[in-house]
Amino acid sequence: MMDKKTEKGVPAACPVSGRCGGCRDTGIPYETQLRNKQKMMEKLLGGFGPLEPVIGMEDPFRYRNKVHHVFARDKKGNVLAGCYEARSHRVVDIKDCLIEDRKCQEIILTIRSMLRSFRILIYDEDRGTGLLRHVLVRRGFQTGEIMVVLVLSSPILPGKNNFVKALLKAHPEITTIVININDEDTSMVLGKTDKTIYGPGFIKDRLCGCTFRISPQSFYQVNPVQTEVLYDTAVKYADLQSGEKLIDAYCGIGTIGLTAAKRVPGCLVTGVELNADAVRDAKMNARENRIGNARFITGDAGRYMEAMADAGESADVVFMDPPRSGSTEQFMKAVVRIAPSRVVYISCGPETLKRDLGYFTKHGYRVRRMQPVDMFPFTAEHVETVVLLTRE
Ligand code: SAH
Repeated sequence: MMDKKTEKGVPAACPVSGRCGGCRDTGIPYETQLRNKQKMMEKLLGGFGPLEPVIGMEDPFRYRNKVHHVFARDKKGNVLAGCYEARSHRVVDIKDCLIEDRKCQEIILTIRSMLRSFRILIYDEDRGTGLLRHVLVRRGFQTGEIMVVLVLSSPILPGKNNFVKALLKAHPEITTIVININDEDTSMVLGKTDKTIYGPGFIKDRLCGCTFRISPQSFYQVNPVQTEVLYDTAVKYADLQSGEKLIDAYCGIGTIGLTAAKRVPGCLVTGVELNADAVRDAKMNARENRIGNARFITGDAGRYMEAMADAGESADVVFMDPPRSGSTEQFMKAVVRIAPSRVVYISCGPETLKRDLGYFTKHGYRVRRMQPVDMFPFTAEHVETVVLLTRE
């Protein structure tokens, strides 16, 4: 029902709009959302130079191929599954969401309906009792492979084998099921330990002509259609040549660096990433795609760049794709010392992007091109941007 659109592409009103902490733009035509995002970005970044028009989606619905629901109970004991209310720990019950993949949602609804017969208790945040905290489902957009992660407060799932059997009977399309143990009093969704109870413990997906392996803990963009647009733009801006050295900082599972390495086999890519699971995936991804000109290092990107600068090592291009909090002065200072001719900044945080571009433009770099990409339709403040900086 939620897919019903009026002529202008306005979704039928979302029943939890205004309470759910996710979308803020339900009911606003997509064209208007894009215009608003463009205005916001121009206000923030216009001082650095001209901004290309934001690239929107042809179909802005159900783009999220990673769906995460938190489980709780209301006062009457009914199961709630959905997201937190904005700025609170109250759970908004969600049975359908217009930006989430339908199949992932169906699987979560099935799990919800199985809880009673398997006597799986919902975790109570205040008392620290119960078992099931969150369910996370990820679907490979191109491969259709599906990973279900059950986040539990303890490693024991009662009736585990029967639970797996029943879930697979309802959804034979699931390719792997993982238990994640999170026994801490934390707002983080995932704990540190994963236990695979069905399948290989990861899924694969294809992006930009490469196959990527995705583990429960690894970062992977949630909007596959726009991710290809984003990476294509980044690689195009880099204009990488054979024989050049590229650093892919904050590389995750290596998606951007491997896309570049595959397109220019004569270049050498070094990816740096803090999350060891993601680096393991990145190395496997290089091997599986038969990409021999990329290597990956686990570590802090700032420290790595500083060590490179201290050792007098060079780089021609630096890709940087930091989290929303942006990069660090240590990182940027080292980039300035290494002095690559191009820096391609891929940002999911417009405010921190502005701050960091301020640093680069004060230290010998100039913004040449800026391309916003709408990765998150219906969310007013989220825009991803690719920026090309070159040395003056
Ligand atoms: N480029 C990847 C990942 C971008 S998300 C992609 O497009 O999929 C940002 C990544 O930065 C995450 O994988 C996160 O684990 C990593 N990260 C966060 N802080 C870091 C740091 N200080 N050093 C290196 N990597 C870091």
